[in-house]
Amino acid sequence: MQKDRLYLDSFPDERGYFGKFGGSFIPPQLVEPFNEINEAYKKLSKDFNFLNELKSIRKYYQGRPTPVYFAKNLSNFAGANIYLKREDLNHTGAHKLNHCMAEALLAKYLGKKKLIAETGAGQHGVALATAAAYFGLECEIHMGEVDIKKEHPNVVKMKILGAKVVPVSKGLKTLKEAVDSAFESYLNDTKNSLFAIGSVVGPHPFPKMIRDFQSVVGFEAKEQFFEMTGKLPDVVAACIGGGSNAMGIFSGFIEDSVDLYAVEPAGKGEKIGEHSASITYGKEGVMHGFNSIMLSDENGEPAPVHSIASGIDYPSVGPEHAYLSSIGRTKVALCSDTEAIEAFYTLSRLEGIIPALESSHAVGFAIKYAKSEENFGKSILINLSGRGDKDIDFVIENFPENL
Ligand SMILES: *Cc1c(COP(=O)(O)O)cnc(C)c1O
Repeated sequence: MQKDRLYLDSFPDERGYFGKFGGSFIPPQLVEPFNEINEAYKKLSKDFNFLNELKSIRKYYQGRPTPVYFAKNLSNFAGANIYLKREDLNHTGAHKLNHCMAEALLAKYLGKKKLIAETGAGQHGVALATAAAYFGLECEIHMGEVDIKKEHPNVVKMKILGAKVVPVSKGLKTLKEAVDSAFESYLNDTKNSLFAIGSVVGPHPFPKMIRDFQSVVGFEAKEQFFEMTGKLPDVVAACIGGGSNAMGIFSGFIEDSVDLYAVEPAGKGEKIGEHSASITYGKEGVMHGFNSIMLSDENGEPAPVHSIASGIDYPSVGPEHAYLSSIGRTKVALCSDTEAIEAFYTLSRLEGIIPALESSHAVGFAIKYAKSEENFGKSILINLSGRGDKDIDFVIENFPENL
């Protein structure tokens, strides 16, 4: 066992637990198919051909390694040394393709013909449709009718990529109903399809698998940062919705004495429905098949959440984040809608890099942290999880005062 894999190889345990968090809370019909995925992944995660094919895809198709960039102008502005891991330069413009390509490769090894998933803002849907096109798999994306109207460009992209977008007209016609609809479709044909979860959430083995697939970000960044500076960063930070981009970059530094910050969306206030800061304001509970920290209403149902960035407005976090924060290995920071918009403009103006609104939360944190006097001169590495092209119309319409 390599030294920097000690933790990763021991967590989660066989049953998918990180301390008391994680596990698998699923209907009986899903037990068998999820066992199949678990057993297959256990073997494939050590299989030379699987790992080699994944490595080759990352290099020649996705364009990895993505660079680590020293943001000199932003650093001068803020007072500490800020480095960006440029996942915005990964093919399709965000980190999500790292796990989608691997999930599709897993489907191929399992002899599946179809990938099924839900999507909210459409980012996961587009990444999965891309992976499906690459492998010649069918792709079925379930999406609420309200979201379909709101996220037109992503819907068009999925269709161009050959995916079937299934409109969901039940209930509020958004993400929750889309999840139910996707699960139903998967249950009808578990033999030929793979349910492809989009973050380090869901029942075992998904939180582990998605973390492992994203860990390439952290291991690359560690080597690149060391090569550039001869040291490790003082701080590594990432925004957190479900938590896949954060777990990805944290994985490279988890054994080191580096502060890890999970940046939660503080939205526009502290009341339920105004934010999606699950670790900060939530409590333990079971949702979507796993035990974690969640935001719930009086009836224990997932609470309404808000963030200006639709990729991180999720009422829970991956179980590993709940665990790492409970033992004090990670720290939780907040970034509000307003701070994220400011960071969005600041990075664009100072560095010529337009960040995704999700990633803008990590940038906003870095600026705040750097400006605090006791942190002067420290080095901060953030995971710039995606590019902001998808957000430009929204920002210009709603926050033109920054122009
Ligand atoms: C989806 C998305 C996120 C949030 O997902 P995590 O699983 O929390 O990483 C963050 N940034 C971008 C650009 C996204 O598309």
